[in-house]
Amino acid sequence: MRGFFDTPVEYLKGVGPQRSALLNKELNIFTFGDLIQYYPFRYEDRTKFYRISELTEEMPHVQVKGKITGKEIVGVGFKKRLVAQFKDDKGSIELVWFQGIKWMLEKIKPGVEYVVFGKPVMYGKKFSFAHPEIEPLTEKNDKGGYLQPVYPLTEKLRSRHIDSKALVRLQQELLVLAKDKIRETLPVDIQAQYQLIDKQQALLNIHFPQSHGLLTRAQHRLKFEELFYIQLRLLKMKLVRQDKFKGQIFSDVALLTKFYNEFLPFQLTDAQKRVIKEIYSDLKSGKQMNRLLQGDVGSGKTIVAFVCMLLAIGAGTQCTLMAPTEILAQQHFNNLKTYAGHMRQTISLLTGSTKRSDRKSIHEGLRSGDLKILIGTHALLEEEVKFKNLGLAVIDEQHRFGVAQRSRLWSKNEGVFPHVLVMTATPIPRTLAMTLYGDLDVSAIDQLPAGRKPIKTIHKYDSHRLQVNQFLKDQISSGRQAYIVYPLIEESEKLDLKHLMDGYESICRAFPDEAISIVHGKMKPEAKEFEMQRFVKGETNIMVATTVIEVGVDVPNASVMIIENAERFGLSQLHQLRGRVGRGAEQSYCILMTSFKLSADSKVRIETMVRTNNGFEISETDLQLRGPGDLMGTQQSGVLDLLIADLARDGKLLQQARETAIRVLEDDPNLEKSENKVIRIQVEQTKKSTVNWSRIS
Ligand code: ADP
Ligand code: MG
Repeated sequence: MRGFFDTPVEYLKGVGPQRSALLNKELNIFTFGDLIQYYPFRYEDRTKFYRISELTEEMPHVQVKGKITGKEIVGVGFKKRLVAQFKDDKGSIELVWFQGIKWMLEKIKPGVEYVVFGKPVMYGKKFSFAHPEIEPLTEKNDKGGYLQPVYPLTEKLRSRHIDSKALVRLQQELLVLAKDKIRETLPVDIQAQYQLIDKQQALLNIHFPQSHGLLTRAQHRLKFEELFYIQLRLLKMKLVRQDKFKGQIFSDVALLTKFYNEFLPFQLTDAQKRVIKEIYSDLKSGKQMNRLLQGDVGSGKTIVAFVCMLLAIGAGTQCTLMAPTEILAQQHFNNLKTYAGHMRQTISLLTGSTKRSDRKSIHEGLRSGDLKILIGTHALLEEEVKFKNLGLAVIDEQHRFGVAQRSRLWSKNEGVFPHVLVMTATPIPRTLAMTLYGDLDVSAIDQLPAGRKPIKTIHKYDSHRLQVNQFLKDQISSGRQAYIVYPLIEESEKLDLKHLMDGYESICRAFPDEAISIVHGKMKPEAKEFEMQRFVKGETNIMVATTVIEVGVDVPNASVMIIENAERFGLSQLHQLRGRVGRGAEQSYCILMTSFKLSADSKVRIETMVRTNNGFEISETDLQLRGPGDLMGTQQSGVLDLLIADLARDGKLLQQARETAIRVLEDDPNLEKSENKVIRIQVEQTKKSTVNWSRIS
């Protein structure tokens, strides 16, 4: 059955096939329901008229009323413009148009009273409005008293004359038809508890607010609803899974005990011990584990992963660890090979550059069950990679895999799904974790291994280079190693590569007696690996590199990280890079080199880095600066395409929404109670209309 809100937008008066095609393509609006949920992103204040004498430059767009007292075209070429004098009883301003001059010249008539809406800018001694909106004064607009919605649009739509005004008209048209069809989607008790206005009120006021107060309440209500249903879906997924998906039981601790007693290279931190306990209780529960392991760079997630692998192997199953890059996979392999060797367990590495013959034997080992541990990149998601019995999949995520890829690992085992442990190195803010990973249980290693000295972070301008080089010399002569990192982004790749090579050369000149490694993304994997190994083995003491070293490289003797053009890196990236040092017993340093000119945002980033080593604090600042959509790797995840809520700002609301969802599901897991009927209907509706990114259909 097709509901009113499923009606194709084409059938709305004023739309038709051509405009509908544009709305589909440009704004993803297909139905009445899509349109009504296409919310304004700001509102123009038409609640009052200002007198020209009251105008200030600080004002946003404002409206004034008065008459045109003169108009002329001035300037030539691209400076040609129409300038009109506009007066109210006390003052006068200029209205300026650079485009559509001829048309405007005819349209505006002296003597007629107009309402003009624009942004006051002081030009010479007079205020002027560039490209203002202008309409003859009518009984209706004279009343003022309203907030005018402004809708986000694309260039293409504007060029086809679908502007914000046009959207306003469509929304008006639609709301008249839809008003009585709007269904309430939140139970009354929840509405009462959080003082939420009803859905109909909310939709009417989000498009055409009757007052500032009602607008705020409409936004509040719609945000709550959006966050509530996201949380409900995630939590329900978790419940269903716990209910439905059995997990293999890993309760044999013989291997683990042996490892602890004979080979553990250091004392585990309390945080590591706690996390291992949490994981162990999942693994022996008989339910499939889906756990997120958060821990700052260097907090020691790898050993935790290995201990879990021993539990899996002890139960006769196999395990895999998937890393985001070849270098990182290689690094994990090197580390884990040592542990696995002690424990006499088979381990292999599978990446895009694994030779065909090696692949074949890996595939065989996996199928026969002889190969216990497989480390790799996304290459191990390929079809041919089949396990005899995959018991545990560890994903070292660094934000780079999406939910969809996570789910592909699941299907690697026939019958029972493997237990899944997702490790992330940059702690992400709670609000994001709740949304991106809301369906997972979360463990955190919130403590660094003992004896680590906090890294000292220092900001230096390029003009201090000699001083920095001297510092570097001193560090190297006392036996340390150093990284020098350059930005390299695709858009300016050529220039960036040049900077890197120039930097490399000047370092070679400044350190004529040193062998210096260089690594960048354009090198062949073997060459990269070769250079990397030279540095790891201590044959070189300086490594000049692009961010390829961001993930993973572990050289405890490296104690200096110099980041060139630090202003060009994002916060979480800077934090990741810094995490490459501070791994040994020596005092480590991170030096952020920048030019003198810094944008406000770069200043905040640099200051934050200098102030704190805490990954949670850093990711919180990053979220505030950039918004959730731009945080590393979150784009593809889909869950962040929110209609109205903003994860950077609505943390408290999210918390309330999540608590409410938990309470509802605890009380009524299948949403069968009559008071939850509206929720059930809404869940069923959205299931039909949203792309299902989860693995549970
Ligand atoms: P990350 O969490 O960033 O993956 P790693 O697992 O690579 O961190 O660990 C960082 C370094 O700290 C490694 O050299 C590892 O051997 C070491 N390490 C891990 N746990 C401890 C510990 N409890 N005590 C001392 N060193 C540790
Ligand atoms: Mg790691």
